[in-house]
Amino acid sequence: MYRKNDSIELDITALTSDGDGVGRAGELVFFVPNTAVGDTVRAKVLKLKKNVGFARLEEILTPSPDRIASDCPVSFSCGGCVYRHLSYEAECRAKRQKVIDAVTRIGKLDAALVKDIIPSKNIDGYRNKAMIPVGLNNAGEVVMGYYARHSHYIMPCLSCRLSPDIFNAITAHFYGFIKDRPELVYSASNRKGIRHLYLRHAETTGEVMVCIVAGARYFKDDHRIYDSLIEKFPQIKSMVINVNPDDTNVILGKETVLIYGSDHISDILCGLRFEIAPEAFYQINRAQAERLYAKARDYAALTGGETLLDLYCGAGTIGLSMADGVKRLIGVEIIPEAIENAKRNALDNGIQNARFLCGDAAKAAETLRAEGVRPDVIVVDPPRKGLTPPLIETIVEMSPDRLVYVSCDPATLARDLKLFSEKNYSVKEITPVDMFPRTSHVEAVVMMSRKNT
Ligand code: SAH
Repeated sequence: MYRKNDSIELDITALTSDGDGVGRAGELVFFVPNTAVGDTVRAKVLKLKKNVGFARLEEILTPSPDRIASDCPVSFSCGGCVYRHLSYEAECRAKRQKVIDAVTRIGKLDAALVKDIIPSKNIDGYRNKAMIPVGLNNAGEVVMGYYARHSHYIMPCLSCRLSPDIFNAITAHFYGFIKDRPELVYSASNRKGIRHLYLRHAETTGEVMVCIVAGARYFKDDHRIYDSLIEKFPQIKSMVINVNPDDTNVILGKETVLIYGSDHISDILCGLRFEIAPEAFYQINRAQAERLYAKARDYAALTGGETLLDLYCGAGTIGLSMADGVKRLIGVEIIPEAIENAKRNALDNGIQNARFLCGDAAKAAETLRAEGVRPDVIVVDPPRKGLTPPLIETIVEMSPDRLVYVSCDPATLARDLKLFSEKNYSVKEITPVDMFPRTSHVEAVVMMSRKNT
């Protein structure tokens, strides 16, 4: 029997979907973060449950051939990267396996449907968006950085390898302004203070958006920091303050006020120019998004005459990138600002066969179905929670020839694919896409087609 604080030896034989190593000791399965398949490690038992235990890496006795030295001083405590100690090839293998595990165990599908993963060209500096929390530590000092794993503890860190240099430079400059001014920082007793520095970068145009999230519209010397950022970083084309006084984990509040420049930045994706508002979703890894969309387009197998329905369309990017290949496009999205961006993006790119609706995907799809709209192809790209059974029902009733499912969560994807397979759709192919190198997240794009025509 094992007890808490025991030191145990484990062979790591697999990784969990969160990227933790898995090793067996007798009847128990232990999870050990920051290990690699092929490692033999000594680990300290932290917690025991009936069949599983959690342990912390103490010593690597024999390193796995997959191991590399981590090049980030905080990678083992930060909640962002989980694979920084693995070769990129091993990471891609683990991510493909995560998709295979989900679709076979939950989806009851054949592993052979899962094709090779599309690796990312850039594995560092690829993020075009960062939300950096600002807070006070126990000593009352101002800290800025990233949340530690599974917590809201801010791990001090001004420079992240996943971010472009410009984000790290702006973060350091901003920290210089607030570092000795705890009275400016949000806390339980100061709900007017600064909460987050939210940055966006349009890779192709170089434009940068700075959004300061604070509990109140004004803070002391606010114009000093605005002016010094604008002066020091001419790339800043948009500066806004977002007001969020609520006691919530949701980062952005309802009110966004323009401070300087434009209320959006623009980026080029798939040859089209896109306006991106602070509230609108935009793919975090632009170069890789082009490869994801290319695969989705390939799966949509467009011939030019189709009606295409793009559900969860964000700023319209997937649908608009396919608009030249279809007769008409309908996009649906719940965030009003994103729909405004989508309409503007269609206009700016001279796309005239697109229409965008703001609303819940399930409700909008049901309305379209009731109006007699019969899409030939439907693309869905939902948030992590996936689709709802009523929406799946409506999609099946609309009976498109082909369905393309873009997913950022293999588990909910697999659950939904099972439902589609039990109805009139068969899964033809699944391609994992690595949108978020070094983190545990993996995207997948799926082609389905109708069984009875
Ligand atoms: N396809 C887009 C966005 C994908 S992210 C792209 O590739 O950029 C998922 C989108 O779903 C987000 O824009 C989010 O605002 C939207 N969303 C979340 N819940 C929704 C719902 N119930 N109905 C419609 N859209 C929703």
